[in-house]
Order: sequence, then structure tokens, then C-alpha cells
Amino acid sequence: MYDSIVIGAGIAGAVAARKLAEEKGKNVLVIEQRSHIGGNCYDEKDESGVLIHNYGPHIFHTGMEEVFSYLSRFTEWYLFGHEVVAKVGGQLIPVPFNLNTLHMVYEKEKADRLEQKLVAAYGEGSRVPIMKLRENEDPDIREIAQYVYENVFLRYTMKQWGQKPEEISPEVTGRVPVLISYDNRYFQDKYQGVPKDGFTPMFEKMLTHPGITVKCGVDCKELLKLEGDIIYFKGEPFAGDVIFTGALDELFDCRFGRLPYRSLDFKFEHYDEESYQGHSVVNYTVSEEFTRITEFKYLTGQKDANGTTIVKEYPFAYTGAKGEIPYYAIPNEENQALYEKYRALTAGMKNFHLLGRLAEYKYYNIDAMTKKAMELAEQL
Ligand SMILES: Cc1cc2nc3c(=O)[nH]c(=O)nc-3n(C[C@H](O)[C@H](O)[C@H](O)COP(=O)(O)OP(=O)(O)OC[C@H]3O[C@@H](n4cnc5c(N)ncnc54)[C@H](O)[C@@H]3O)c2cc1C
Repeated sequence: MYDSIVIGAGIAGAVAARKLAEEKGKNVLVIEQRSHIGGNCYDEKDESGVLIHNYGPHIFHTGMEEVFSYLSRFTEWYLFGHEVVAKVGGQLIPVPFNLNTLHMVYEKEKADRLEQKLVAAYGEGSRVPIMKLRENEDPDIREIAQYVYENVFLRYTMKQWGQKPEEISPEVTGRVPVLISYDNRYFQDKYQGVPKDGFTPMFEKMLTHPGITVKCGVDCKELLKLEGDIIYFKGEPFAGDVIFTGALDELFDCRFGRLPYRSLDFKFEHYDEESYQGHSVVNYTVSEEFTRITEFKYLTGQKDANGTTIVKEYPFAYTGAKGEIPYYAIPNEENQALYEKYRALTAGMKNFHLLGRLAEYKYYNIDAMTKKAMELAEQL
């Protein structure tokens, strides 16, 4: 009955399913274990009518025209330049640390001198990973590096990853650079914002196609079995393409041990006030147990909300206990080697494709995930 099966209705699964149905004429079954589509991009109104992101704040941002125009078929956008501030002492300073931040932190003469040195060393407009800035031999630049390291980076990173920065892959630490510019935006991509009516309606539109059937509330293991190099669907061998976007270790009952992840506990709070913090995202880089507070109305642009809803994020090590969600893969050699052991189990199944942040044990932004899903569907 089905030509292809997609496991997971997050951005990876939804984009792949839509392309297979629309462009390849396939009859696609999408199996999703949660009660809703959208994966971690899912959003909905809370009891007070405030649009919230249930799995943490998601801002779409991309410089890839083909990705922006593909998703624009399913939504209009509320576009803005996303800005983040960090609470350091009594001050809210722009992050990533940039030349505006430099001038807030140091008095004018010193800030002017440091700015000249940074521009001379790295060039205007450049992004310098903090660990690289710390290697600079100029004592003035090292001083800035030390300030950023201690006040913006160290504690936040330790909370987020449960490790010291030195122990974390440069792939991860490189994500928080120092910007040699006056650009306060968190991302420098051409397009940034959120779907105008929310992410969930975008997914609904994407998955509404005569060639797509979505079954929510079903773990794929109830319907699919992998034995040898054969995929069985409801007990029968299945020769069509299967795109798997779930956790690979769990698919194989963690037989070699669990792949480590960081998870997050989201604590939502509602206030009958116009505004809580006046910013969409405030990072807590030197204090508190949580990493950041997001105030949704500043992110979604919602005007008709009663009061305001915020979320605090508490990171912890994923254990696989019921109800926990694996959010961030922890890239290092040991974990990659374990992942490869699981991947090898699928190598002989030519119609079984691993796609997505869980199945590939890799961090992806929404745009990169969309691109990868588009490419895979085109190849099949
Ligand atoms: C806190 C947080 C904030 C983020 N913020 C941003 C941001 O601002 N901008 C940005 O671009 N990216 C952001 N991301 C990244 C973004 O969430 C990912 O790019 C995106 O979710 C990846 O999509 P996916 O489809 O691979 O995974 P998911 O969205 O996780 O979807 C996978 C789906 O598969 C389902 N599934 C898993 N196993 C099974 C199974 N056995 N059977 C059936 N279904 C199954 C899951 O329930 C899930 O719905 C953020 C990530 C996190 C964790």
C-alpha cells in the first residue's frame, strides 16, 4: 500500500515526505511517536493563549535561498534580526560579544584602542571563536578574551554541556564566536524569523498532500522490524525506501550501550504582566542554574496574548528514562565510534536511510536539516 515510509514528523521527516509524495509520486506513510507533528519545532498556544515553543525557542535562520523559498511555500514569515543579551552582574550585554559589547564593558579610550587592535588582527566583520582569541599573544586581546571567557562563555558552557570548554569539541565551542563588528544580531543570515502563524501550521501544510498519510502516537518499532538486511513492515518484507529520523541506538535496543546526549528541562511560567524581561532571550552566563530565559511574545511577535509566558532551560545528562528527550548529541571521538557501530548495523540495507539530528547523531539547524532532507528525497 505504501511506497515509502518516513519515521519522525520533525523537519527532516516532513520535508522528505513532502518531496517524495509531490515530486516522486510516492505514497508515503509518516510514523510519529509523539501525539503531534513538527518534532522539536512544534509550537502551540498555552492555557493563557500565548504561543509557546514546547521544546525550546526555535528561530529559523538561513542564507540558503533554495531552503527559504521551499519552506515559504508552506508559510509566510515574521522576519526580524534575532538579538540575544546576557545578564552579567547588573548589566544586559549583547551576545555574541561584539564591538557594541566592548564599548559597554570598557571605558571609551580603552575600548577604542582594543577595537583597533581587534580589527587589525582579524579584520572587520570577522567571527573569531573564543578559544582562538585566547591564543592571541597581544596582552590587550588576551584581556578581552579572558573577559569573554569568564563572563560569557565558561559557566554557560559548563551548564549546557556539563564539561569544561577544553573537553568539548571545537565544533561546539566554535558556535559562540566573538564578532568584530557592530552587528548585535545573534545570527548573520539573510533570512531570520519564525513562521507568521507558528511552526505547527507550516508542518500541517507541508504534510497535507494526497500522497501522505501521518500516524501520530505510534513508535515505529510497533510496525517495523529489522532482521539481517531485511526490513519488515507489519510482518511483511518492505522493499520501498525507509527514512529513519529517530535515535539509532534506541532502534537497536541500545545493544552496544546508550549514545550520550544532553537533555533539557523546560520550566514554563506565565505572568499577568505586559512584559517580563523586555527581550526575547536573556542568557545567564555567570549566575543561576538555568542557561537562559525566553519570553515568547518577543520571538513570535504575538500581539493578542494575555500576559506573557517565559521558559527557563535547565540542562542535564540524558539517561533514557521515560519522558526525557535527547536534545544535543555530544560530539567526540568515543561517541562517534559508538555511533558508527550502530550505523554499521544498517549498512547492508540499501533502502534504509538515516536522516536527522538523532539518526545521524549530529547537531543541525532547521535550514541545514531542510537542505539535507531535500537532497536525500531528490536522490531517491
Ligand atoms: C533547545 C533547542 C533549540 C533549538 N533552536 C533552534 C533554532 O533556534 N534554530 C534552528 O535552526 N534550529 C534549532 N534547533 C535545532 C532543531 O531543533 C533541529 O534542527 C531539528 O529539530 C531537527 O529536525 P529533526 O527532524 O532531525 O529532529 P526532530 O525535530 O527531533 O524530529 C524527529 C522526530 O522523530 C520522532 N521519532 C523518534 N523516534 C521515533 C520512533 N521510534 N518512532 C516514531 N517517531 C520517532 C520524534 O518524536 C520527533 O518528532 C534547536 C534544537 C534544540 C534542542
